[in-house]
Amino acid sequence: MRELLTFGRYLKRKFGEKVYKVPIALSGFTCPNIDGSVARGGCTFCENESFNPVLNRVEKIKGFTLNLQSKSNPLLDRQLHELETQFLSLSKKVKERYGAEKFIVYFQAFTNTYAPLETLKVLYSKALSFDGVVGLSIGTRTDSITIETLQYLQELSKEYEIWVEYGIQSVFNSTLQKINRGHSSENVEEWIRKTKEFGLNVCGHLIYGLPDEDSEMMQTTFQKAVEWGVDSLKIHPLYVVDKTALANSYRRGEFSPISEEEYISNLVTSLKNLPSNISIQRVTAGIENDTLLAPDWCYNKQESIKKIRKALREEGIIY
Ligand code: SF4
Repeated sequence: MRELLTFGRYLKRKFGEKVYKVPIALSGFTCPNIDGSVARGGCTFCENESFNPVLNRVEKIKGFTLNLQSKSNPLLDRQLHELETQFLSLSKKVKERYGAEKFIVYFQAFTNTYAPLETLKVLYSKALSFDGVVGLSIGTRTDSITIETLQYLQELSKEYEIWVEYGIQSVFNSTLQKINRGHSSENVEEWIRKTKEFGLNVCGHLIYGLPDEDSEMMQTTFQKAVEWGVDSLKIHPLYVVDKTALANSYRRGEFSPISEEEYISNLVTSLKNLPSNISIQRVTAGIENDTLLAPDWCYNKQESIKKIRKALREEGIIY
């Protein structure tokens, strides 16, 4: 039996105790795929608030969003306040429930490097100043990060555990176009390699079951991500959330979601080929409310995880 390197195990080995990721969502951040810089409407599956319940706690700001060219940031004080409030409240909960002592602040919602470096420096250093914080994980897109930001993160990484999370989704440009991703696979490869050159940890996000993708394509995406040098992966099935472009395609009968069997079979194939130094942070995802339109099996994530664990065990892998 071989034990899979989950992200939890990786952090425990490194820090000698469990480290908890604390998700944060800040007002004023958006995404170039939503604000019209590269496209409008976002990825066809994106309904950011469904994916990130934390966003529901953020007061909606109309009329101002950050981007890489922003000259000023009138929301900075408010963002600092939100960062502190969310961190203190969520870390208190995990402290009480699990006795947590160490944390990674996870900038999760939207595109978290899509802002001027001055803003990022203030927010990241504030996050690192909280008690028990050992690092940052920053979710972003490869077309929304700059060399200057990577240089700054490299400085931070001398003292802290720094992760950059990039959406890869698929390495096929035809698929990226179908989901209105707004960037090419070449751009993803280029910036993952650059980020690695700065010595930073990279987590790649992959989606299985994208429109018209077969198993061979999913495994090619997995293999390429490994080849490009990711240190960790998050994999999940494509599911349909209401009020998205994908929901419209689904209702018109143009998109059929992946079955649970096919998803698990592809996931297991990938994990069997996962190099032992690459950790896995997510093996599925779902949404337990009525905004989920399909597939039904994504409604019960815990049940799927049980099946995944069993399927992996049959291959001699402990998850
Ligand atoms: S990159 Fe992320 S935030 Fe932007 S549209 Fe796509 S899923 Fe939504």
